[in-house]
Amino acid sequence: MTAMKSRMQRVKGYDPEPMNVPPLFQSPPKPVAMVRWFATKYLWPQSLTWIGIAAWMYHLFTPRLGRFAALSIDDIGLLWLRNTVLMLVVIGGQHWWLHIRRSQGTEFKYESRWLAKNRKSFLFNDQTRDNIFFTLVSGGGIAALYEAIMFRLYATESIPQLGSLWAIALMTLLVFWIEGFHFYWNHRLLHVDPLYRWAHALHHRNVNTGPWSGISMHPLEHLLYLSLPFVFLVIPGSPFIATFCLVYLMISPSPSHSGFDRFRLGANIDFHGGDYFHNLHHRYFEVNYGMLLLPLDKWFGTFHDGSGEAHEQMKNRRTRREDP
Ligand SMILES: [Zn+2]
Ligand SMILES: [Zn+2]
Repeated sequence: MTAMKSRMQRVKGYDPEPMNVPPLFQSPPKPVAMVRWFATKYLWPQSLTWIGIAAWMYHLFTPRLGRFAALSIDDIGLLWLRNTVLMLVVIGGQHWWLHIRRSQGTEFKYESRWLAKNRKSFLFNDQTRDNIFFTLVSGGGIAALYEAIMFRLYATESIPQLGSLWAIALMTLLVFWIEGFHFYWNHRLLHVDPLYRWAHALHHRNVNTGPWSGISMHPLEHLLYLSLPFVFLVIPGSPFIATFCLVYLMISPSPSHSGFDRFRLGANIDFHGGDYFHNLHHRYFEVNYGMLLLPLDKWFGTFHDGSGEAHEQMKNRRTRREDP
């Protein structure tokens, strides 16, 4: 580990073991191991929590579908308010626990330094306040608008809808892979100029990230990133799946950008928190555009698994590009 760190010339901080792609994408593919990996590593605890929170939001805090047949600004406002409270609790809670209370110090923290204060590149000269602003105003707002549009289309029976609870449950699980595909391609597009300069550079000011950095994006990026539910304009879905897509997109990036690989809740209790894969994207920009669940980066030659070898390969690609 020490040798790897010196070879990679990395910032001080916690280095997890190098990552492997999920069992299905290893050679030879291991479908049974994939099911076990998906249930025990991927779904538990984070992804099941997102599904649970989305179900809770949909049944208790979302206006009934019938209201959206005539789309009104009040209903979009209510969805925005719901999004704001949800993010203040889930994202703000992690920020408070990890970065204000500093409950586990820098244990499992990818970078030993803390979030930026008094830096002019951030709105209000403060990384956290800047990130909160873009997350709640633009992120929560555009998510509310998109959810309302989907609800209107379902309320007026204009798009295909799944009929059974089983089909909805199965499609909810498939959303994770659909998002793996959707996120990779819209993220690759955002790395092309001038889209990068206009929009995505704003997210990448956060090299050292915190929970609020997750969806701290330019509104143009939010329009693309949050467009996942529109996949269900052509694939049969359901109003719950539309809510799930947006809840998942709003809150799942908070642990993955938290800066901590694991969250410690007690002397002997800790669980997987961060996303080392995406953390490396924030450090090096040109690797790991997608998600580990669907390793498109592996197939397109931009995979960085955190090892010294992958780092050398990245540096070689860079040298070849700059000095052909
Ligand atoms: Zn990010
Ligand atoms: Zn990026």
